[in-house]
Amino acid sequence: MLLADFNRVRPDYVVKRNNWIPKKVGMVAWRAYMERLPTRVALQRRGITIHNLECILCREYCETSDHLLVSSGFAQIVWLLVFQWCKTDPIIAFSLRDILDAHQKFGGSDKKKKAFHVVCLVTLWSIWNLRNDLMFVGKTKSIANVVEEIKVKSFIWVKHRAKEVNMSWDQWRVFDVF
Ligand SMILES: [Zn+2]
Repeated sequence: MLLADFNRVRPDYVVKRNNWIPKKVGMVAWRAYMERLPTRVALQRRGITIHNLECILCREYCETSDHLLVSSGFAQIVWLLVFQWCKTDPIIAFSLRDILDAHQKFGGSDKKKKAFHVVCLVTLWSIWNLRNDLMFVGKTKSIANVVEEIKVKSFIWVKHRAKEVNMSWDQWRVFDVF
């Protein structure tokens, strides 16, 4: 086994589940981390012939999960705005693992950490959906729209699934919660 292959499987790390969002949303993060999202590079590694490996958003780099969801210019701006919304310092030069662990360092109560974890998982899910909409339907969305969708979707899920949490949209949209 090549070291590069070995490094792609990280059995020591478990992507934390979050029951405030539907399972399918959290699955995107887990699949991304395990290199099991069908990005162009991941498909090619599985032996599928892909003629064009470039990222559909920037057309400059190969499409890996890490590039698409974290380090691409598009993703970096989305993360910057999401971190601003949640009033936390942006992380510089971060990886998917940093995103998945960011809630641990987030200031505030356990509920607030969990809410921020929701936001991170929904952000990954939203960027992945945006890529699929663009690739398969040709539908584009502005960064502002993506960030708004992250706020609205995460609010609806937390509102309906977190029975112990009582908050309004006005509180959520400025992340003034718990
Ligand atoms: Zn790109």
